[in-house]
Amino acid sequence: MPTERIYKTVHQYSKLPVPAEDMKKLLEILEDYRKVKSCVYARYGGIGGLGKISPGYTVQNEMTKSGLRSELGLPSVYFYLALFEALGDIRGRWSRTKAKVLELVGKNENFTAEEKHYLRFLLKTGNAFEAVLNQRDPELPEKIRKRYAELAEKVEAGRLDRYLCRQVRKHHVRPDVTSANGFAVSERAYRYGTCGTHSGIYLSTKENRKRIFVALTDSNQYDSQLFVRPKPEEASVEIDVPVSVSVHSHRDYVNEIGLSMGVFTMLTTDAGHRYGEEFGIFQTEYAEWIRERQISYHRNREANPGRKKYELQKRRCEERLHGYINQELNRFFRTEKPRIVYLVRLPHGQPGGINKKINNGITLWQRGYVRERLKQKCREQSVEFAEVIGKDISRECSCCGAIGQKTDGGFFCSACGYQAEEKVNAARNVLRRGQSGRIVYETAGYR
Ligand SMILES: [Zn+2]
Repeated sequence: MPTERIYKTVHQYSKLPVPAEDMKKLLEILEDYRKVKSCVYARYGGIGGLGKISPGYTVQNEMTKSGLRSELGLPSVYFYLALFEALGDIRGRWSRTKAKVLELVGKNENFTAEEKHYLRFLLKTGNAFEAVLNQRDPELPEKIRKRYAELAEKVEAGRLDRYLCRQVRKHHVRPDVTSANGFAVSERAYRYGTCGTHSGIYLSTKENRKRIFVALTDSNQYDSQLFVRPKPEEASVEIDVPVSVSVHSHRDYVNEIGLSMGVFTMLTTDAGHRYGEEFGIFQTEYAEWIRERQISYHRNREANPGRKKYELQKRRCEERLHGYINQELNRFFRTEKPRIVYLVRLPHGQPGGINKKINNGITLWQRGYVRERLKQKCREQSVEFAEVIGKDISRECSCCGAIGQKTDGGFFCSACGYQAEEKVNAARNVLRRGQSGRIVYETAGYR
């Protein structure tokens, strides 16, 4: 069996402050890149563009002929990457819209089975969807055309077509860019190398044959398509690199683990094992550090002292925190040897305020980071990751299912007398719900 491979993103950072003139050149590319994307969105982002976006040759040809590239003076490599990125966004939006409408059709109890069949056919078959939205007859191969006629005959097709149009108008979000935070660059437009004693990367600019050099903190070299994020306020550059990694599978990973995530202890398992016990300390320190710096920064805003230094220190602080999170997650996998990991689905807009000292924004963001890293590591280690329904999960007794009391991090059930740490009780409920199939499945097409 061939080894399965998946992608993950690694980051590279500029080592020295990027000189203003070089930053200017990067921002010029960024601005043009944004203009190209905007143009593609405006021309092909709507219903009328549906017929052209896949496979995209038409868009490529039309955009080439539009003269925009020479008008901007943008190297073709950047021009086409911007175009492809915009096309990818547009396709992504449409598949999300279709998934949403499919879900609504499935849930709608007013539709008969035939009506549902017809609507699903429109959403899934060739250019039927596009044709209905543009009020045309679909062009389908003979065999499928017959099927379409059969389905349409059994229902009030006109009414269902209008329903589809209405749902799309309601749920489709057209992509648009008012700002862009980075641009893609392919191998043709960059080269890793050295300049003096520094190792780094040479990037093509709008000026013919002129490349700028950015010294990097590491000397790794990649050959994939990179994503460059200029950060003018910090005089720095960040580069995202997609790296293909092989998936490991472990014969001895056989356990089912329920997890509870916390502000203080990062993870608690259903067996009461803890990972990331210093998580809260790290987060509090980080949050306080940022708050202090922000106060002094705002006080001295006029002079704007040390902004670059602040951003650099902030990044180091963040890297330390992330290093700790990853190290503890690795320890979790090594120790627990999970086959499947259950976690509560992240509630939407959950109120914060568990600890006033930890800024809510930062707490939520780090929790998102932990969750993403946990998911990614599961993918890398061939461990299944499943989210369970979270309603009342920390109030329910994991022994008898009654609603118990929570006090000072403890849980007590007056119905059966069960007593445990609040997080352990919650993790046990997570495991139980996972094992009994109360799992939230991601809707197809969503990222
Ligand atoms: Zn109980």
